[in-house]
Amino acid sequence: MVEQDCIFCRIASGDIPAGRVYEDDQCIAFRDTNPQAPVHLLVIPREHVESLDDVGLKDEPMLGHLMRIASRIANDQGLAENGYRTVINTGASAGQSVFHLHVHVLGGRPLSWPPG
Ligand code: AMP
Repeated sequence: MVEQDCIFCRIASGDIPAGRVYEDDQCIAFRDTNPQAPVHLLVIPREHVESLDDVGLKDEPMLGHLMRIASRIANDQGLAENGYRTVINTGASAGQSVFHLHVHVLGGRPLSWPPG
């Protein structure tokens, strides 16, 4: 279902432009407009799911697909040799600001741990 007030639904539908690097029938991947690393991509499901906390049993294949595509685009962007990070922020206190499930893919610089 497309939520008209959800910016990532509107990106997925093509209503709002984005720097797309990949798309298929289940998900799209695009460049983050406020990159936190030389490569910072977001992978989102086409279907509106608010957060990881709202993922149900029926969503398991979609979630697996998002993670596989995250790895594939990281490889396509040349991140695999030095490593990359995948992050899902869940809830406002964890830094989630867009309430449509998304996987961050970050790489191209050393990434410290633990995150803030
Ligand atoms: P989070 O804070 O984990 O919810 O991540 C949301 C991310 O979406 C942030 O890194 C934002 O910079 C990014 N973002 C917000 N609006 C857009 C947009 N229109 N196109 C691309 N990235 C966006």
